[in-house]
Amino acid sequence: VSDSEFDIIQRWFARDQEHRDGLLLGVGDDAAVLECRGRIAVCVDTLVADVHFPASAPADAIGHRALAVNLSDIAAMAARPRWCTLTLTMPQADEGWLDSFTEAFFALAREHGTRLVGGDLSRGPLSVTVQVIGEVGENWLRRSGARPGDDIYITGTPGDSAAGLAVMRDGTADKSAAHAALVARFLRPVPRVQEGLALAGLASSAIDVSDGLLADLGHICNASGCAAVVDVEQLPLSESLLSVCGTDAARQHALAGGDDYELCFTASPERAAEIEQALAALSTPVQRIGEIQSGSGVVATLAGKAFEPPIRGYTHF
Ligand SMILES: [Mg+2]
Repeated sequence: VSDSEFDIIQRWFARDQEHRDGLLLGVGDDAAVLECRGRIAVCVDTLVADVHFPASAPADAIGHRALAVNLSDIAAMAARPRWCTLTLTMPQADEGWLDSFTEAFFALAREHGTRLVGGDLSRGPLSVTVQVIGEVGENWLRRSGARPGDDIYITGTPGDSAAGLAVMRDGTADKSAAHAALVARFLRPVPRVQEGLALAGLASSAIDVSDGLLADLGHICNASGCAAVVDVEQLPLSESLLSVCGTDAARQHALAGGDDYELCFTASPERAAEIEQALAALSTPVQRIGEIQSGSGVVATLAGKAFEPPIRGYTHF
């Protein structure tokens, strides 16, 4: 890549570089210069081929996903994404691959008002690192604010993405519309950016579900010094998930499957009506799935008894 790095950047990555909205200098110099007022939130995430996604995944899905997972982290802070950087390591500069990758990346970036301001390219095994810089207001969210008595909520329908990955691995993606829908949920996760912003000042804590609902709720409990009880019967399971997997496997995926990029958050019961209204205004499904209690750890219960999924979550190492 190195010989033509400049050409590749000019052709595929130097887009949306107008000097507006705080972008004083973007792609093409030694560093970007940004103008911001107030607090910023910064996150970064690396996706490695065959660790975080199959190397054979379509280039557009990789481009979408690399940005989406970072926007999801920004969403969990109730931050507004503004800028991003991209480090791309790839085995060779394939024109078709770069076309698809950048098309999807910039489409999602535009959708969320996020502009690419810099990055790096090199040759090697496929890996994509994206950093997003966002702005936060007074009421930004964190993992540590949950209190005993708070309700626990989840947006959307968890478990679809893990089931979609399983479907891809089985090679059954074309079997039915439901199979295809699950695969799409894995390949093109939807970051809940507007939802995160809407929850500022309403939620007491938040996290985006990347490792699995129980595992990520465990991070909230650890950070907040409390326990969580999830009612398995309240889990919002999609029609696609139920029809492809059946109830037992659907519950397993919803509790332990990773890569949902839904928001799991807690809030005082007094906020219930406002939360319902705020998310209804965005047409985003939200479901109360349990309660924060004093103590430590996360348990799932079904009909009053402990329900233990065989695997709790995904760990990268
Ligand atoms: Mg996260």
